[in-house]
Amino acid sequence: MQGTHNVILQGLTITSLTEAIIARNCMNGIYPDQMAGQQISPKQIEVDLGIFSGHKSSPAFPEVTLSQDAESLFLSCECEAVGDKLCEHQAAVLMALLQRDELRAFFDRELRDKLVRKFATDYGLEQEPDLDSFFAIELSNKKIQVTAKSSQLLPINKESLDKLKAVIVPDADPPAYRRR
Ligand SMILES: [Zn+2]
Repeated sequence: MQGTHNVILQGLTITSLTEAIIARNCMNGIYPDQMAGQQISPKQIEVDLGIFSGHKSSPAFPEVTLSQDAESLFLSCECEAVGDKLCEHQAAVLMALLQRDELRAFFDRELRDKLVRKFATDYGLEQEPDLDSFFAIELSNKKIQVTAKSSQLLPINKESLDKLKAVIVPDADPPAYRRR
């Protein structure tokens, strides 16, 4: 039977999370494991919400859901643990977020901002304070991909300038002379 073990960590977001904080919030006898974070695989991940399980090497790992708002972390695990402290699976997911930038970026606005700002330069938006409203990130092959949210946004880089030039100055066809 599937259990539901829910834990809320108040006054905490991923940005301020440390290994010591994870350890302090674990159930008795559970310690955050350096290696555990590497066994975690995201099933679904978007900004401030993730569903995680173990990857192939740990198929018995139950599903852990993590979400956060401005001041709290919400964790839910399908294991049978009871109480209001983190189970080993929840602790492992939090360790993964500490260690792996490709996961952390979805929960850490500062890190996401840093990754996206580079990309935003091509759009002339590098000074924009709220990049989340212009760009989305997604995980593809364990790498962060940045995309513009609106197709109206066009990057200004060599590739797009060449394209624009081709539209403005089409390759001139040789003049068509009227044949007699
Ligand atoms: Zn659990």
